[in-house]
Amino acid sequence: MLYYSTNHISPKVNFKEATVKGQAPDKGLYFPESIPQLSEDFIRNIDKYSKEEIAFMVIQPYIGDVIHKNELERIVSETINFEFPLVNVEDNIFSLELFHGPTLAFKDVGARFMSRCLSYFVKNNDKNITVLVATSGDTGGAVANGFYDVDGVDVIILYPSGKVSTVQELQLTTPGKNITALEIDGTFDECQLMVKQAFADEGLNKKILLSSANSINIARWLPQQFYYFFAYQQWKEKNLPVISVPSGNFGNICAGILAHLSGLPAQHFIAACNANNVVPEYLKTENYLPKPSITTLSNAMDVGSPSNFVRILELFDQKFNSLRNIMSSYSISDEETKIVLKEVFLNKKYLLDPHGAVAYLALKKYLQDNPLHKGIFLETAHPVKFYDVVEPIIQQTVPMPGEINDLIKMKKHSIKIEAKYDALKDYLLTK
Ligand SMILES: *Cc1c(COP(=O)(O)O)cnc(C)c1O
Repeated sequence: MLYYSTNHISPKVNFKEATVKGQAPDKGLYFPESIPQLSEDFIRNIDKYSKEEIAFMVIQPYIGDVIHKNELERIVSETINFEFPLVNVEDNIFSLELFHGPTLAFKDVGARFMSRCLSYFVKNNDKNITVLVATSGDTGGAVANGFYDVDGVDVIILYPSGKVSTVQELQLTTPGKNITALEIDGTFDECQLMVKQAFADEGLNKKILLSSANSINIARWLPQQFYYFFAYQQWKEKNLPVISVPSGNFGNICAGILAHLSGLPAQHFIAACNANNVVPEYLKTENYLPKPSITTLSNAMDVGSPSNFVRILELFDQKFNSLRNIMSSYSISDEETKIVLKEVFLNKKYLLDPHGAVAYLALKKYLQDNPLHKGIFLETAHPVKFYDVVEPIIQQTVPMPGEINDLIKMKKHSIKIEAKYDALKDYLLTK
């Protein structure tokens, strides 16, 4: 499999090069030259396969021969060594719980896969590789956990000061060793921009071997297809599921749609957004107008210029109508998020996190207009990760898993810098 750049200037590369580079030199995103097709027989008999077999079959065509089969099997099974339960919340609505990994958010899947691929690729390098990553909250912890103590890899995480939850901040500022947290006096969009500028800086790239672990990296993006198949394996309803995905940078839903185009049966996709409504507006007006991000209760989705959106367009050959047939989008306010979180907790005895709450409500709205369908929403984080938000809403404490209890006693270590590219560059050249 080769990957082209969505800007069509840089040459095509294989999986290894696309993973190590992160972003194409022409600043485009790497995109697979073709979409592998899974056999109908496999889909029909999906019950007979283990989740390791499913994941391997889904990812193998994207890797080709750049990772040896046995190694890829190991990487896949280490990536998914936790549960992905589909839980019935009410009659026509199911929650796909993606928070049973080590940092309690779905980003563990992409981060675990990518870190293992990258450490396989740099095994015999004499120069360390520096992984630069901007986080709106959950990426930081997942990447820190995935890369912790990996030989030959230094990780630098940029996060917006004061805009991530307590648990999120501690997960990314406490590991130490090869993990450094840069606390940026600015927004997530500014962090993301600084990272992009570093990749575009030729002088810097001659001195430091840089890679990105943001969801634009194909090694984080592609494995996110796995759990859509795990959900389908657990789906016992007659009609195909409508799938609602809490969306910020649109990597997750883009992986779901990619899985669908490879053969995953699904009725429809819903991009569930908070007040950052660039995509819902686009689907209404056909005008794509990125804006500065707005701070909300579902902070991991506070993205005003979703970086994977170009991939969504690419999946549909830039055809607006084809996209609109498969994907709808809703913008949910903080007020609605609070109400629905409380209501589902009281009436259904199910505790949503703020991101899952946005996806739940978007699905609910869609099902009101399409009452014959049933759906799945992706519960992308454990509610305890957002206890600062959730507890005042339900007026109860959220029970803490043991590891979180230990975490909140730890002291954060971050380096504060301004939201300016020069500040990042200075740091990288002098560290
Ligand atoms: C990152 C994140 C999202 C948004 O995912 P994208 O792939 O950026 O659209 C949603 N929910 C949670 C909890 C997240 O951490």
